[in-house]
Amino acid sequence: MKPARFQYHRPTQLHEALEMVATLQNYKILAGGQSLMPMMNFRFVMPDHVIDMNQVSELTGIHEVPGRLEIGAMTRQHDIHRSALVAKLCPLVPEAYDQVSHRQIRNRGTLGGSLCHLDPASEQPCFTSALDGEIEVQSLKGQRTISIHDWTQMYMTPALMSDEIMTRVTLKPWAQNHGWSFLEYARRHGDYAIVGVAVLVALDASQKIERLSISLCGVAAAPLRLSALETSLLGQRGDDRMFPQVHQHIEAIEEIMHDSYNSSTYRRHLAQTLTARALGIALKRALMVH
Ligand SMILES: Cc1cc2nc3c(=O)[nH]c(=O)nc-3n(C[C@H](O)[C@H](O)[C@H](O)COP(=O)(O)OP(=O)(O)OC[C@H]3O[C@@H](n4cnc5c(N)ncnc54)[C@H](O)[C@@H]3O)c2cc1C
Repeated sequence: MKPARFQYHRPTQLHEALEMVATLQNYKILAGGQSLMPMMNFRFVMPDHVIDMNQVSELTGIHEVPGRLEIGAMTRQHDIHRSALVAKLCPLVPEAYDQVSHRQIRNRGTLGGSLCHLDPASEQPCFTSALDGEIEVQSLKGQRTISIHDWTQMYMTPALMSDEIMTRVTLKPWAQNHGWSFLEYARRHGDYAIVGVAVLVALDASQKIERLSISLCGVAAAPLRLSALETSLLGQRGDDRMFPQVHQHIEAIEEIMHDSYNSSTYRRHLAQTLTARALGIALKRALMVH
């Protein structure tokens, strides 16, 4: 299939792009094009205008500011995957990217594009949720910051107004001695996860769980933070007694999404198994650096 006719725009500055989104009707932002172009070719979306952000260099780059890691919305997934700074501050992120699609797609695809596309099975909203990410969006009227936990409005629909462009994602790195793990099950390596899980854990001086973050993808429209499970495991030693708790908490999730390939029951089973395994790996890593 070929896309329907559209007018192509190539701004070189953010302000120019913001003027376009404030005035044009039925437009689409083009970032890496790895989700947008297939959707246009299948004619799931038929924009009259495509605004290509690839010349807007202001939206690219990875920076550490005290207590935060800032990533421009147009930063390529490959650059985040291979960044020494990201690996040092948020080792969960490259581990998740090991499982995101293929090198060719990561060379073009951007973190901002993934968070705007918002596929429920994507690893990228999932690690952003585990790291309590914040998303900056801008319009001609000003700037807003939205927590990743409020970002999903409904299935594949972010909290982005029609005159706004996503500009930056901020992750909150954990202390250096934390443990982490990203695990998923997909039909083939590089496919979207059927279910994936991101875990971060920090231990206190007596090796008990002091802080915990668990986020799932592939179970709901938005990444699902298991906050009740996180709280219930605080103060515990990471041993086999925690696994029944993991099982029970995930058993109690009322609604788990399903499609013609994977039932809710199967996804629930994967979520239970992968969460227990990822927790075990994250705890081992935390103990090694303790
Ligand atoms: C074969 C294949 C396998 C894949 N496997 C995976 C996988 O395993 N895991 C995974 O996470 N992803 C996977 N992807 C998707 C990939 O990560 C895409 O790169 C990503 O979903 C979209 O990023 P993009 O930069 O290409 O955005 P685009 O495709 O350019 O845009 C996606 C959407 O976001 C909007 N948008 C983009 N940037 C902005 C912005 N700054 N402000 C406002 N709106 C914006 C666009 O208008 C569009 O609606 C796969 C893709 C392919 C083709």
